Amino acid sequence: MTKTDPYEREREAMVEHQIRDRGIRDERVLAAMREVPRHLFVPKGYERAAYEDRPLPIGEGQTISQPYIVAVMTEQLGLAPQDRVLEIGSGSGYQAALLAGLAGTVISIERLEGVAEQARENLARAGVTGVRIVVGDGTEGYPPEAPYDAIIVTAASPGVPEPLIEQLAEGGRLIAPIGPRDCQDLVKLVKREGKVETIPLGGVCFVPLIGQFGWRGEGFR
Ligand code: SAH
Repeated sequence: MTKTDPYEREREAMVEHQIRDRGIRDERVLAAMREVPRHLFVPKGYERAAYEDRPLPIGEGQTISQPYIVAVMTEQLGLAPQDRVLEIGSGSGYQAALLAGLAGTVISIERLEGVAEQARENLARAGVTGVRIVVGDGTEGYPPEAPYDAIIVTAASPGVPEPLIEQLAEGGRLIAPIGPRDCQDLVKLVKREGKVETIPLGGVCFVPLIGQFGWRGEGFR
């Protein structure tokens, strides 16, 4: 971010009114959202809309989530500076940029090559380093760097992909939208002494997670 950032005021208003006023209290999360230039993660012409209270199209039928939903998911991950984090669904790279400011290691998996390349470009333009974007089926997780202290799934799945639960560290947290095609329940899983506790966080609507342990039907891109 430079001092000539034309959207600094919009971003400040977004954090105060859409995020803090709705109950997000983690100061590290609020600071990260003030820091990351969200307008650099949306298509050309959508820069101002980047700070509105809604998701936006990012191409190839995919979306960047509404700022408030990003904040809820990020806060619930409960990140510490040394944590290893896995994101499934890089999309624009915006969520990954926030994670990079809050954790130690960030790996983000994207199924679509073109989307992954765009995410890499967006992160570079925003000056974010320390995110590794991997092209592949994120429903299988990413075994080479497992286990993870936190896993965030930013596409919707009929159930929590088993490999992700396996790759969660002791004490690890996983956040994912789980349920039917159109809208789902956001759930948090916490692994303690090998057991998994599930906490519901409310209703959300995400694009589908397509892969071996997600949606496998025809007709999904
Ligand atoms: N976190 C993103 C938004 C993600 S949109 C952001 O901050 O902008 C959901 C993304 O998940 C899409 O880009 C879609 O291509 C991707 N996706 C769907 N199924 C996937 C899978 N099995 N593995 C990895 N990515 C997947």
